[in-house]
Amino acid sequence: MPYASRLDNLQPEGAYVVMTRALALEAQGRQIIHLEIGQPDFETFPHIVEEGVSALRGGFTRYNPPLGIPELRQVVATYAGDQRGMEINPNQVVIGPGAKPGLFFPTLALIEPGDEVLYPDPGFPTYPAMIEVAGGIPIPVPLREENDFSFDLSAFNDLLSDKTRLIILNSPANPTGGVIPRSDLEHIAQVALERKIWVISDEIYARLVYDGKNVPSIASIPGMADRTVIVDGFSKTYAMTGWRLGFAIMPVSLAQKVELLITHSIGCTATFTQRAGLHALEASQELVNRMVTEYQQRRDRIVAGLNNIAGVYCRMPQGSFYVFPNVKSFNTPSDQLASRLLEEAGVAVLPGTDFGDNGEGYLRLCYATSNENIERALENMSAVLN
Ligand code: PLP
Repeated sequence: MPYASRLDNLQPEGAYVVMTRALALEAQGRQIIHLEIGQPDFETFPHIVEEGVSALRGGFTRYNPPLGIPELRQVVATYAGDQRGMEINPNQVVIGPGAKPGLFFPTLALIEPGDEVLYPDPGFPTYPAMIEVAGGIPIPVPLREENDFSFDLSAFNDLLSDKTRLIILNSPANPTGGVIPRSDLEHIAQVALERKIWVISDEIYARLVYDGKNVPSIASIPGMADRTVIVDGFSKTYAMTGWRLGFAIMPVSLAQKVELLITHSIGCTATFTQRAGLHALEASQELVNRMVTEYQQRRDRIVAGLNNIAGVYCRMPQGSFYVFPNVKSFNTPSDQLASRLLEEAGVAVLPGTDFGDNGEGYLRLCYATSNENIERALENMSAVLN
């Protein structure tokens, strides 16, 4: 094929494949419960929508600087710094259309062809995709269920090499809901400092954390701010997935390189969405807090319900809005089990293998949906599996 080889291994995201099949079944008149796509079922909070609309009416419709409007960069620096207990300079803040550019552009700026990049498996499928497009070699590090889906640190140590240039972390995690404990972060930080390895820390779910748990950021460990990119945004916290607004925090010299990439690709992020994002951070956080309380109740319900289905074992995840139940006892490949649940139970879930080879034996369910849907999904799944 006459296409560049850097695209050879690019795969579609499994969630979209399952969603397309689910929509086709719905078009045939079937009732499907959607637990496949990872986005809040909440609408964007009304006061944020109002701000976006009045920004449009107020003329915030033109280009703005590639790294974002200064007011938003300033407020993000304070917000992200307060949350992680660290000082952040506004010049370190890069605004982008979603969190994904905060993953992709620093990877392009850091990776030489042949460099190795360690990333979590099971993990967000964008990580291996962007590593390959950047010419790097993706090296999956297994996550272990018995460690609440943190890295298997002995595998991590074994997979390090002289070519390791970058480590990608995700806490709280998609698809497992796991949170990496501080002791693991300290080990990874020590390695990164000794070997001069960069870290991209995907913290997009940093505010979706339960039971009052604290999620440490590797960037707050002494010395790490100089070699860490924190990735976060508005999609999940403020139910703004379709607005496309995110941010990344990185050393100023890297931000200057990323600025060039943004200039020549997207140009800049929409001005009125940034105004809405600024308001989201400055206004009362009550609706976010209520949403998180609601997610925690749904998490408790879905975990209890899954553990009531014979053969299913589900750990209690500490963050994000996913559960990652173990279904190994069915001795059926995860993709076949997920297909059966869709076709026979009318419940759209993802096979763990959509997130890497180490996802075999697991399913991913997103519980950002109504309690009624969760109850019906559990009933239907139980009827098909038992
Ligand atoms: N990182 C992780 C782990 C995610 O799950 C997602 C979205 O599903 C993103 C990044 C992308 O976020 P955004 O939609 O803001 O680009």
